[in-house]
Amino acid sequence: MGNKLTKRNEDYSKWYNELVVNADLAENSGVRGCMVIKPYGFAIWEKMQAGLDKMFKDTGHENAYFPLFIPKSYLSKEADHVEGFAKECAVVTHYRLKNAEDGSGIVVDPDARLEEELIVRPTSETIIWDTYRRWIQSYRDLPLLINQWANVVRWEMRTRLFLRTAEFLWQEGHTAHATEKEAIEEAEQMMNVYAEFAEGHMAMPVIKGLKTESERFAGALETYCIEAMMQDGKALQAGTSHFLGQNFAKAFDVKFASKEGKQEHVWATSWGVSTRLMGALIMTHSDDNGLVLPPKLAPIQVVIVPIYKGMEQLEAIAEKIGPLLKELRGKGISVKFDDRDTHKPGFKFNEYELKGVPVRLAVGQRDLANGTFEVARRDTLTKETVSENEIVQKIKFLLDDIQKNLYQKAHDFTYDNITEVNSYDEFKKVLEEKGGFVSAHWDGTIETENKIKEETKATIRCIPIAAKNEEGTCLVSGKPSSKRVLFAKAY
Ligand code: AMP
Repeated sequence: MGNKLTKRNEDYSKWYNELVVNADLAENSGVRGCMVIKPYGFAIWEKMQAGLDKMFKDTGHENAYFPLFIPKSYLSKEADHVEGFAKECAVVTHYRLKNAEDGSGIVVDPDARLEEELIVRPTSETIIWDTYRRWIQSYRDLPLLINQWANVVRWEMRTRLFLRTAEFLWQEGHTAHATEKEAIEEAEQMMNVYAEFAEGHMAMPVIKGLKTESERFAGALETYCIEAMMQDGKALQAGTSHFLGQNFAKAFDVKFASKEGKQEHVWATSWGVSTRLMGALIMTHSDDNGLVLPPKLAPIQVVIVPIYKGMEQLEAIAEKIGPLLKELRGKGISVKFDDRDTHKPGFKFNEYELKGVPVRLAVGQRDLANGTFEVARRDTLTKETVSENEIVQKIKFLLDDIQKNLYQKAHDFTYDNITEVNSYDEFKKVLEEKGGFVSAHWDGTIETENKIKEETKATIRCIPIAAKNEEGTCLVSGKPSSKRVLFAKAY
């Protein structure tokens, strides 16, 4: 018995890959860097989408859809943007294939060259702002609060399932505003929405902050982010929200007539989270036995496994379970009664453990006679016997308690692994021996940031929003600094 995964403390990255595949979340495909998301993994992603989508709509956003392809000339219009994305663009040059004249197979038809090459979108600012020019004329058209759920392609060289893939699924919000203040408030609001989702649904604590100039989105004036600490102490950028200023409005000539009748450029934001969140979820909670899911995102919250010999016993259990299933489903709890006759209970126990189902009920002949269930919780791997009169209450309690417990555990781990240091030697020592996030003074220059990155592989994850003003001196240059920033090795 037991799921034979590599142990986390032996090889964390191997553990991760095995878990993703064995828990039926995703697998590599025939296309380099592109993954197949399997039904169970996709069901979790759908729950994430549903939770986020509701939060977007509750904050006034609407969904729309824009093309997969972007004319090359659009991408070139915003100089920083194209420079940032040029190295990872997939380009469509032709629109037809034909049989090779020498019979060697199918080849690209050289006569079918596109007049203008098309980029497979790495992000959609350019095509969207080209559209917004037609949608926005007056202050009455603002704000425009739009989101799209889509796939994008960034030709990443080093890919990892969910964490960094060449094609990934995401949502991208693109908003247009009459004033700078309003756009900044929107960018901050969406960072807060992401943090609320991460903590409230994923049970994943995050640090909200600002990116430094060198880590900023290509074309943004400010990038807000949420950073999370994975179990191996490494940081994962879990979501970003950008204040784009008037850069895209200027590049695409999007102006509006203000209340005073003046023509002004529109202010913009964009914000996104991707299937990377699946990787974040896995690396925040899971253990050596497999996936551990917070109940709010678990496709199956409760599984009931019958223990029986012969159809007669199974039918007796099924009869008993019927009303319970109905009652739980009536309360919005997703419950599965696994009456497959093709697998033994032990196999099923392992499977649900590997797949992270939060609560497992087992019921056998003795339970039937006693009016009890054996109840196991996935987060603590503990078991207890619960009477049938109390089972519904117990399940409700457990789902709530598991959600809270996972958050608390991850929260304690994160904050136990943020270390304040005051010298570069200490910095290197903590990174090497303890890992996690290192909180230190930095002089605000790219030179120092690069030097630290080259020498230690740690990058500035963010300038935390919550960082208090504190006089100090930069670790490396000794120049004055007024705030600590967070450094870490990152995914
Ligand atoms: P960006 O548009 O670069 O700000 O990225 C938006 C979101 O997509 C961020 O939350 C990133 O963490 C995520 N992301 C960026 N690149 C990838 C990738 N190759 N695979 C998966 N997620 C990504």
